[in-house]
Amino acid sequence: MHNIEAAAELLNGIGVARPEIEAAVRQLLLAFGEDVDRDGLERTPERVARMYDELLAGYRVDPHAMINDALFEVTYDEMVIVRDIEFYSLCEHHMLPFIGSAHVAYTPAGRVLGLSKIPRIVDLFARRLQVQERMTRQIAEFMEAALHPHGVGVVVEGLHLCAMMRGVKKANARMVTSTMCGSFKINQSTRQEFLDLIGRGPAAAI
Ligand SMILES: [Zn+2]
Repeated sequence: MHNIEAAAELLNGIGVARPEIEAAVRQLLLAFGEDVDRDGLERTPERVARMYDELLAGYRVDPHAMINDALFEVTYDEMVIVRDIEFYSLCEHHMLPFIGSAHVAYTPAGRVLGLSKIPRIVDLFARRLQVQERMTRQIAEFMEAALHPHGVGVVVEGLHLCAMMRGVKKANARMVTSTMCGSFKINQSTRQEFLDLIGRGPAAAI
């Protein structure tokens, strides 16, 4: 089970360093030209520190505890698919949110995972400083490490606030990324079945 640990790509420590974040946020507010002692901002550094602890919790999840009670040996070998998994992440270039949905599918090879765990795997990688391409690949690699399936497909659709709020505003610029492994990569009909099931076949506008 060591490869699950490796695939989770965790950081050390028990959480973010809240006092350091508080001090840094205070510095940031001062650099904005703000009065850090005014009513509305007084507790902002503390709130922001607590917020990052929550938004970056994906670095410190125990992946074994997360999935162990939900792995089942089965003979089922049809595609399993969980679509429209809502996610919230932070882009590592601007530390602004990117949000959207993930679609995860796999073809089991003797082992399945309880369906409720798949959104937890998406969260494991979303709650970090991320780029969407890497998050997509990490979800697929974790599924491979945990289940050793015949194949895995992951498609992520994200709206990036750093693109929407800055410069040329493109409020509806959706970014789509995908990772296909094993049978999803080799076998065109498997990949097509997945894309059709998530409404991303040739007829769907990407
Ligand atoms: Zn960004």
